[in-house]
Amino acid sequence: MKVRVDGERCVGHGMCYLAAPSIFQLSDEDGHAHVVSQEVGDDLGDAVLQAQRSCPEQAIVVDTSA
Ligand code: SF4
Repeated sequence: MKVRVDGERCVGHGMCYLAAPSIFQLSDEDGHAHVVSQEVGDDLGDAVLQAQRSCPEQAIVVDTSA
Protein backbone atom coordinates (compact mmCIF):
# COMPACT_ATOMS: atom_id res chain seq x y z
CA MET A 1 0.00 0.00 0.00
CA LYS A 2 1.14 3.53 -0.77
CA VAL A 3 -0.12 6.71 0.87
CA ARG A 4 0.42 10.42 0.40
CA VAL A 5 -1.14 13.68 1.50
CA ASP A 6 -2.57 16.01 -1.14
CA GLY A 7 -1.04 19.31 -0.10
CA GLU A 8 -3.66 21.25 -2.06
CA ARG A 9 -6.45 19.83 0.11
CA CYS A 10 -4.81 19.48 3.52
CA VAL A 11 -5.72 22.31 5.88
CA GLY A 12 -4.17 20.87 9.03
CA HIS A 13 -6.93 19.35 11.16
CA GLY A 14 -4.51 16.74 12.41
CA MET A 15 -7.04 13.91 12.45
CA CYS A 16 -4.67 11.75 10.42
CA TYR A 17 -1.96 12.08 13.02
CA LEU A 18 -4.37 11.01 15.76
CA ALA A 19 -5.34 7.92 13.75
CA ALA A 20 -1.85 6.89 12.64
CA PRO A 21 0.95 8.82 14.37
CA SER A 22 3.63 6.51 13.00
CA ILE A 23 2.64 7.38 9.42
CA PHE A 24 1.67 11.04 9.50
CA GLN A 25 3.57 14.01 10.85
CA LEU A 26 2.34 17.56 11.21
CA SER A 27 4.34 20.63 10.30
CA ASP A 28 5.34 22.80 13.25
CA GLU A 29 4.76 25.83 11.06
CA ASP A 30 1.30 25.37 9.57
CA GLY A 31 0.02 22.06 10.97
CA HIS A 32 -0.24 20.50 7.53
CA ALA A 33 0.42 16.79 7.30
CA HIS A 34 2.98 14.77 5.42
CA VAL A 35 3.80 11.09 5.45
CA VAL A 36 6.90 9.66 7.09
CA SER A 37 7.09 7.09 4.30
CA GLN A 38 4.88 6.55 1.25
CA GLU A 39 5.33 2.79 1.57
CA VAL A 40 3.07 1.30 4.23
CA GLY A 41 3.35 -2.26 5.49
CA ASP A 42 0.31 -4.48 5.93
CA ASP A 43 0.49 -4.11 9.70
CA LEU A 44 -0.31 -0.39 9.40
CA GLY A 45 -2.86 -0.64 6.60
CA ASP A 46 -5.90 -0.44 8.86
CA ALA A 47 -4.54 2.65 10.62
CA VAL A 48 -3.93 4.36 7.28
CA LEU A 49 -7.45 3.60 6.07
CA GLN A 50 -8.87 4.89 9.35
CA ALA A 51 -6.85 8.08 8.90
CA GLN A 52 -8.16 8.41 5.34
CA ARG A 53 -11.75 8.10 6.57
CA SER A 54 -11.18 10.61 9.36
CA CYS A 55 -9.75 13.34 7.12
CA PRO A 56 -12.48 15.98 6.62
CA GLU A 57 -10.82 17.25 3.43
CA GLN A 58 -10.34 13.89 1.68
CA ALA A 59 -6.68 14.85 1.46
CA ILE A 60 -5.24 11.39 2.06
CA VAL A 61 -4.63 9.43 -1.11
CA VAL A 62 -4.22 5.67 -0.71
CA ASP A 63 -3.13 3.26 -3.44
CA THR A 64 -3.99 -0.25 -2.32
CA SER A 65 -2.66 -1.81 -5.53
CA ALA A 66 0.92 -0.83 -4.69
S1 SF4 B 1 -6.67 15.06 8.63
FE1 SF4 B 1 -6.53 15.63 6.45
S2 SF4 B 1 -6.66 17.86 6.40
FE2 SF4 B 1 -6.16 17.24 8.50
S3 SF4 B 1 -3.93 17.30 8.67
FE3 SF4 B 1 -4.49 15.20 8.10
S4 SF4 B 1 -4.42 15.18 5.84
FE4 SF4 B 1 -4.49 17.31 6.49
